[in-house]
Amino acid sequence: MPIRQLSEHVVNQIAAGEVVDRPASVAKELIENAIDAGASRIEVDLIEGGLDLLQVRDNGDGIPPNELPLAVSAHATSKVVDVDDLEGIATMGFRGEALASIASVSRLQITSRVPGTPAGGRLVVDHGNTRQVEPCGAPEGTCVEVGGLFARVPARRKFMKTPRGETTRVRRVVRDLAAAHPSVGFTLRSNDRVVLELPGEQTLRDRCVALLGRELGDVLIDVESHRDGVTLSGLIGPPDTARPGATHQIVCLNGRPIVDRSIRHAMREAYRGLIEPSRSPVAALFLGVDPARVDVNVHPAKTEVRLRDERLIFVVVRDAIKAALEGRDLIPTLPTPRPNVPQEPRALFGSGLAASSSQSVSMPRLEQRRSQPIALDGRDVAGDDSDAIEGVSATLRFMQVHDAWLLVEDESGILIVDQHALHERVMFERLLERLQSGDLPSQRLMVPIVVDLDSTAIEGLEKLRDLIQRLGVDLTPMGPGQLALHAAPVLLIERGVDLARFIEDLSQSAAALHEADTETALRDVIDMMACKAAIKAGDRLTQRELQDLLEARDAIERASNCPHGRPTTMRLTLDELERRFGRS
Ligand code: ADP
Ligand code: MG
Repeated sequence: MPIRQLSEHVVNQIAAGEVVDRPASVAKELIENAIDAGASRIEVDLIEGGLDLLQVRDNGDGIPPNELPLAVSAHATSKVVDVDDLEGIATMGFRGEALASIASVSRLQITSRVPGTPAGGRLVVDHGNTRQVEPCGAPEGTCVEVGGLFARVPARRKFMKTPRGETTRVRRVVRDLAAAHPSVGFTLRSNDRVVLELPGEQTLRDRCVALLGRELGDVLIDVESHRDGVTLSGLIGPPDTARPGATHQIVCLNGRPIVDRSIRHAMREAYRGLIEPSRSPVAALFLGVDPARVDVNVHPAKTEVRLRDERLIFVVVRDAIKAALEGRDLIPTLPTPRPNVPQEPRALFGSGLAASSSQSVSMPRLEQRRSQPIALDGRDVAGDDSDAIEGVSATLRFMQVHDAWLLVEDESGILIVDQHALHERVMFERLLERLQSGDLPSQRLMVPIVVDLDSTAIEGLEKLRDLIQRLGVDLTPMGPGQLALHAAPVLLIERGVDLARFIEDLSQSAAALHEADTETALRDVIDMMACKAAIKAGDRLTQRELQDLLEARDAIERASNCPHGRPTTMRLTLDELERRFGRS
């Protein structure tokens, strides 16, 4: 075939595929135009998920009738004049191709009246064929109707989900843009049913609560930071509100919703050890940087941006969230909010609880089942537990139930503690601190322990050589596939940990590790040690041990969750108890 210049129609069709690929991206472009036009109210209507009709109406600046043909032609924009303007884009749009692209794959009608002018104009573009502008009466502002989207592009139509699926995507687009512009009122209707209704002039918090879920109203935590020209404000959910997936995260940069892996990673880092890996935190983060420091012109749909200071923004996000979480009471309250699910009536007797619950702090000491006392923090156990219990916590009232749980009285009600999870967190924090300060004592073994390992396991350990040394683990090669362990951390020996198993597990997590990720390696190893050394469910604790554990809890950060992110503690408030017992 000879080389030919493509017709404008074909060029637009190709370009259209880059800018708009489904109703959600059409909605995004049209809403952004309305925001750029200074609208204070935007209404979006969908018929059949926007595949039959998608309409966006605004009360913004409008377009004079004589400019309507320009608005729908390619590379026509009122927002950028020359190349320098691209250096600091403050509007949502600038490429001047959205309306033209949409008009090439649908029947687009645009009706507009500039506020204060007597008459409006209407223009229809039918699959790229522009008709005449007709004068008409119209409300102030602009209304764009998109009919039969992709009806003539079967290849594209094939990729559409059900109308319901497309509605969900449009809803997300509206949600994200609405979060970024809380002063603008939004309505989204689907087949005439209201899906989203947001009044204008909302505070950021009210807007985010309306968008992320009413049940979060009382618990969302403010995040705020200014640093090196980066501003961050927003709201985050406490760890127990984390959910699977990432659809409950909104990230905006200079008023533009974005998807950015590095920022997601920063959130993950900030919540490390507070939520389980399969979940992600609820968050709405709004970043502001000098537009000259961002390149938004990376992707036609502008969902990806290139940040000149990616690392700086990572640090700002991570540190601001960390700071917001620090020192906060993150203990989840029972029952966890689940709207209107009636609680099963619980059997009062016959559960075994009645018998053991008669024991309390003032009762005779629990029989000790273990021969060895527990050094909860790796110290020697201080004396015997008949020692007078001193200090503030002498007033703390607590008990152990079923050798696995602690019940603790506090001002707000009752705390229920998972003894293993809490001790694991305590061990983890102490180990980390000691390792970092070089104060982790190790002990030589009278008789070396021989560990059998295959060659990949031995290679794995080789990767961790430095870390292993810092831990005070002394391993030397013996025969083929054999290592001799000469010294190990006192803490593990004291807690009666199976040292051969420890080395095997160490080699396994080492094998799964990336060469350079020493921070993860350190945490993995410490985590494993903490888990092995921690008291287990089924260990009966003395009063002294209970006391030590609860005191340690107050002394460390992130005591609300074990290192894997599972909760250590739940709270049952007096209010809740009174409500349940009909006393309020
Ligand atoms: P861009 O937004 O990149 O400029 P578009 O194709 O989306 O390109 O829009 C072209 C032009 O049409 C805009 O620059 C703007 O001047 C005008 N326009 C589009 N939508 C609206 C609207 N809702 N209100 C006022 N003007 C609009
Ligand atoms: Mg635009």
